[in-house]
Amino acid sequence: MNEFELIERHFRRAPHHPELRVGIGDDGAVIAPSPGMEYVLTVDMLVEGRHFVAGTDPVRLGHKALAVNLSDLAAMGALPRFALLAVALPDADEAWVAAFMRGLDALARQYDVELIGGDTTRGPRNLCITAIGELPAGSALLRSGANPGDRIYVSGTLGDAALALAVAGGRSDVDARSRAALGRRLDAPEPRVALGVALRGVASSAIDVSDGLVGDLGHVVTASRVGAAVDLAALPCSPALRAKLGSAERELALACLLAGGDDYELCFTAPHAMDERIEALALALRLPLTPIGAVGAHGGGLTVRDESGRALARLPQAFDHFG
Ligand code: ADP
Ligand code: MG
Repeated sequence: MNEFELIERHFRRAPHHPELRVGIGDDGAVIAPSPGMEYVLTVDMLVEGRHFVAGTDPVRLGHKALAVNLSDLAAMGALPRFALLAVALPDADEAWVAAFMRGLDALARQYDVELIGGDTTRGPRNLCITAIGELPAGSALLRSGANPGDRIYVSGTLGDAALALAVAGGRSDVDARSRAALGRRLDAPEPRVALGVALRGVASSAIDVSDGLVGDLGHVVTASRVGAAVDLAALPCSPALRAKLGSAERELALACLLAGGDDYELCFTAPHAMDERIEALALALRLPLTPIGAVGAHGGGLTVRDESGRALARLPQAFDHFG
């Protein structure tokens, strides 16, 4: 099977969204912008040996490659519309490609994302998706919008993906049921698309937690020129992680909770005037939205207070590919 057969059989599809003028099959896709809307573009790459190990289930990889991009769009408050897929594959393994596309397509259908182009080449396995979302002009949620006095919130739970990785690597252990639940958080993250869209006009800033809370909230602190104080006891986490916080594995649990990557929850700030709207939103979305702290004055940096209210002396650091 050659490159063009692979494209025809597995990547090509008929144009679907009305604003798509030209889809897969030409040198580029053509999109007609909707009046009054802006596009948000983001790209994220999954590299074998770096982001996933050889032999990872291709269905889950297809899901995750798109999910991490939809998470970035969600953090901007954008509604996903289109995606481009660049793949490097060591060989034209059709079964692998078909399974990968099953995972990708299932998530794409769920969020009405249309694949409109890409590139296919031989090389060490590498999956790179560019996602395009839209939102009303001027309504994007930025990292730079947090104000002193705002509450800080986080969706869902934190640290499960990192704990799953620790369990898989033999550095920790949990019972079989927790292991399955944690594994799903690592392999099949659910991008918080509906939340991101609903936070337009509600949140003052937003970011998705892909590299750990301390690092990602740190970006908001820097971009917004504010400080932030977070309460460890308020951080939402799974029962499995909660149990480890009070055990001999506390250091590991703290690292998962504060610096664990791959959660893909949203961390956002909002003024107190939005308290009730955010409570209502959590109910409507059936997704916990937990206040975890407050935005403070510029210069205060990011502090995390332990269960007795004392600032942690040392914060676990975010993952850095070149660190
Ligand atoms: P070109 O050589 O002009 O870049 P290609 O032969 O690489 O074009 O691709 C032909 C068409 O197939 C283009 O529309 C391109 O966007 C699309 N395409 C190629 N690879 C993929 C892929 N992995 N996923 C989706 N579309 C793809
Ligand atoms: Mg061309």
